[in-house]
Formats: sequence, C-alpha cells, structure tokens
Amino acid sequence: MEALVNGSHGYDIISWFEDVTKNAASVQTQTLSQILKLNCGTEYLKKWLGDDYNIQDMDDCALESLFSRVVPLASHADFEPLIQRIADGDTAPLLTQQPITTLSLSSGTTDGRQKFVPFTRHSAQTTLQIFTLAAAYRSKVYPTREGGRILEFIYSSKQFKTKGGLTAGTATTHYYGSQEFKIKQEKTKSFTCSPDEVISGGDYKQVTYCHLLLGLFFSDQVEFITSAFIYSIVQAFCNFEELWREICLDIKNGTLSSRIKIPRMRNSVLEILYPNPSLASKLETKCQELEGVNWLGLIPKLWPNAKYVYSIMTGSMEPYLKKLRHYANGLALVSADYGSTESWIGVNVDPGLPPENVTFAVVPTFSYFEFIPLYKLQQHCTSVATDDFMEDKPIPLSQVQVGQKYEIVLTTFTGLYRYRLGDVVEVGGFHNKTPKLNFICRRKLILTVNIDKNTEKDLQLVVERGSQLLNAAELVDFTSCAEVAEEPGHYVIYWEIKGEVEEEVLEECCREMDEGFRDHGYVVSRRTNSIGPLELCLVQTGTFKKILDYFVANGAALSQFKTPRCTNNAVLLAILNASTLKRVRSSAYASQHLHPSLPP
Ligand code: AMP
Repeated sequence: MEALVNGSHGYDIISWFEDVTKNAASVQTQTLSQILKLNCGTEYLKKWLGDDYNIQDMDDCALESLFSRVVPLASHADFEPLIQRIADGDTAPLLTQQPITTLSLSSGTTDGRQKFVPFTRHSAQTTLQIFTLAAAYRSKVYPTREGGRILEFIYSSKQFKTKGGLTAGTATTHYYGSQEFKIKQEKTKSFTCSPDEVISGGDYKQVTYCHLLLGLFFSDQVEFITSAFIYSIVQAFCNFEELWREICLDIKNGTLSSRIKIPRMRNSVLEILYPNPSLASKLETKCQELEGVNWLGLIPKLWPNAKYVYSIMTGSMEPYLKKLRHYANGLALVSADYGSTESWIGVNVDPGLPPENVTFAVVPTFSYFEFIPLYKLQQHCTSVATDDFMEDKPIPLSQVQVGQKYEIVLTTFTGLYRYRLGDVVEVGGFHNKTPKLNFICRRKLILTVNIDKNTEKDLQLVVERGSQLLNAAELVDFTSCAEVAEEPGHYVIYWEIKGEVEEEVLEECCREMDEGFRDHGYVVSRRTNSIGPLELCLVQTGTFKKILDYFVANGAALSQFKTPRCTNNAVLLAILNASTLKRVRSSAYASQHLHPSLPP
C-alpha cells in the first residue's frame, strides 16, 4: 500500500485553502454577497432590507456595509417562529429562496433545549470539505495507508418527520446518511469498520458493541480511531473493559452476542464476521495483560497500526482527555475541527499540536463571520450577574486582534442572518489572513447565585484543581447547579468517581474547589456568607450514564452529546440527588465569616 503523504486529495484542497485564506477579507465580502443575492426577497431579509435596494446589482462592499447597518444581531429565538413555520410545511421563501427539506437538531446539551436549524445540501458539502481539508493536513504529519480502515465511534439518531413532512434529526445523522459521507471514504481511501446498518442502528449500547467488535475484527487494518467528540470514545472503551470477553468469543466463533437485538444490525454484522480463533486468542491475551495494568495503553496494544486518535478534544471535552491519554499511552491525539449545527467554522491546521494548544483556522467560504469583542467586567462591578462580559460592536473577520476574546456571529447559506452562536473564542494568531481561534467556552453564565459570575471554563478549571487531590481514584464526570432555594444560595458540584475515596479527602477536594473560584463576586459573597459553602456530592457509579440515557431518550445523539456542566433541569437534578452517596460542605472562608473585612 502506498503512503498517502500529501496524496492527490491532499494537495488540491490545501492550495485552495491557502488561496482563500490569503484573501480572507475579500472572500468574506464575496461570501456575504453570495448569501444575500441567493436569498434576497425572503421574508426575513425583506423585513430588514425592505424593497428599496436592488441587491442583485449592488457591489459586494456596499452590500456588506448595508447589511451590517440595517440587519440586526439576532439569536435563535428570533428565527424560531420562521423555522417553526418551515417545520409545519410553509413553503414560502422565509429564510432561503431554495426550499428547506431537512432540519437539524442542535445537541441542546449545552443549554438544555434542542433547537431546530435548517440543513441543506450545502451543509453536507461543507462537512465533506472540512473533513477532506483536515485529512489533508493530518496526512502531512501522520501519513496513513490507502485502503486502511477507520474505527469510527459514530451514531445516528432517529430521523423523524415534522408536521409539515420535513426530515428532522441531528446534523451528524444527516451527514452519515448523505452521499457526502460515502464520497469522503472514497476520496480519503479509508473506510469505516461498521456498515450503515450499525451506524444508524439507533440503540447506542448495541451500536457501541458492534463498533468495538468490528473494530477488533479488522484491528490490523485500522489506521486511526475517531468520533465527533471524545466523550463517545472514552465511553466506548470504558464499556469495553466489561465487554471484552464477550467480544473475543464472538470473534472466535464468528457469532454475535444476543445483546444485539435489532435484526438489520445483526444481519449486517454477521455478514461480515467469520470465525477467527487465532485473532481471538491473541486479543484475549492482550486484554488479560491490559486488565492487569488498568487498561493503560489499550489503544496501541489492540490497534497496533493506528497512527492517532482524531476527535474534538477541546472545550467541554477537555475533562475526558486524561482518560483518553491513559488509553492512548503516548499515541498521538489529534484535536478535530470546530463547528456547530449552524455552520462549520474552523479547521485544525496544526494537527501535531497537543489538544490544549490547538486553534482553528476560520474557513472564510463557509459562512460570513462577525466577531463581538468581549471585555471582562471590572472586578469591582457588583451588579446582579446576567453576563460576565461587556461587549463592543461586532467587527468583520479581517479586523480581529490577536489575544482578544469574541463571541462569534454567523450569517449562513442556510438562512441564519447575524446569528449569535453563543461561543466565546480568543484569537490565537493567523493562518495567512484568516484568524486562528482558540475555543474558550459557551457564552452563557453557568453558575451564579447573586453577584458571582462563573462560566463553564471557570468550573472546569476548579474541578480539575479539586480532582487532583483524588490520588488513586479517578473523576469520571461532573456537573453542577446553583442551589438558590435555601438561604444563602450555594454551588453544588456532583462528582462520579471510579475507585475509593475517603471522606476527609472529599472534604479537601471540596474546600479546594470553593477556594478555586476566583471570581471577585464569588469571593466577596463567600466572605460575607451571602453565598454559602460549596457542596460536593458524590454520586454512585453509572449516574452519568443515566443522564446520557435521559438525553438519548429525548432525541439526543451520542455523537453530539455533551454532559451539561450546570443544570436546573428537574429530571436531571432528581437523578443526581437520588444517586448521591455522600455530601460534604466546604470549610473554606469559615474563619472569615466572623471577620468579613479580613484579607483572604
Ligand atoms: P451542536 O449543538 O452539537 O451543534 O454543538 C455545537 C457546539 O459544540 C459549538 O457551538 C461549541 O460550543 C461546541 N464545539 C464544537 N466544536 C468544538 C471544538 N472543536 N472545540 C470545542 N467546542 C466545540
């Protein structure tokens, strides 16, 4: 097999990207003009642009300045009534001139509510484009063999019809079912281990079993391991620790466990399998050895030809990196690209960098991107928290500054205009003239009782700090809530832990986290006891699986699942509280309550 170093699919797309990024500003102006010329006359645009302008004949630059002058910034709520009409079967041009036949469901796990977003052929095409582009950059650093296989932990959710007959499902589901997904395999000459019947099987537990089984059946051919977000990979390998004997037995006999009940899925896997006792016995020996070392290095041991693991590892996925590194034991981890159901945004052009340092070079043809500059509120600001940043006017991509934080605003080919995505990014540098973005966090404040302001990122850092005291035990997952029903309100953090931990250690972790929140509003409120001591709840094993099951039962797909890091969802809180084994309260700030004026 030939090495695919900058192979034919690689060279062209990289030069294309070089061209568009060298001219990022004008490409953006043209992209906006293209979007507006395609969709002028739609109900939404007419509302803002009126009938006074002849959009089709306007010069691109004039159009760009008109657009930012008269079309307002908007959020999903502003588009919701129109999207609802589309879902209900209104075929008038509301957001786009081309009829929308498919709607995507954003994961909704970040703010607890799934949202419909229009999906068009353009969406699948940009997915193919970014995957091919990213593959080209990866193959420069980690060449793979043509004709090899990819172990992909991917999951389609159920598609359903809306009242108006449109197909709805997650964006990844639409993509896995699209022509583009097949084209990608042909273009990159690497094929997924599992057939379509598995990917679209529906029940994620059965699908995971089949992915693992086929991944091992083809283990010598697997060139890399991937998923949309690392959560699914970590989840799969945790399950493998329990499933490996059954999987080896299936490989030995060419059979399929009775766990797999869906007939289409069963048949498709049985068509591929045949008895392979020698592979099964090799795998068994390896698994026995791995079990003895707590599965350290599971990936390179079982997939000796895998060159890397490729998946989104940034943002809310960072807490799972430790576990993935344990399984990978030195094998390269390549952080995957940045996008959302609404639009793809940026590509990782430095795949050799560790996930913590990865930035995403904005692809200026995908959407029209604007950036709202964000400034941290002054430390002494004691207004009741509604947000943690002050904002300035949005600026175009060409004007962003290195080191500055922004919220991203999208104008897409799928009918969203000046749509606030709600993600906070920081410009880390430039690739030619396009910014390289560092993902920081979701914009929404997640933990707030009164004047305190803490984001998902703040929580993540504090949990990382607290969990370092766990010694041998390991943090599996976490979430939080701001408990305001009782006075004074306080933060509650829920931890699921693997291994034993003593009460004194938990108390230490709890104190460490309470002290770890450095937000001025929080520190002041803790000193005066207007926020009570932080509470750490240890939940029983399997609690976060129940949370995943709850989301999946409500239409989420494992491929896009992100554990909510803060919740006020009553069902989730009921699961968490019913599963709590131990509760401890922080002893931090205790002495200061008597002397609130003391320095920390
Ligand atoms: P979804 O709801 O599934 O469309 O999720 C989209 C959201 O996932 C984005 O708005 C980001 O908050 C997050 N996300 C996507 N890609 C990345 C990435 N590479 N790094 C960090 N977060 C990401």
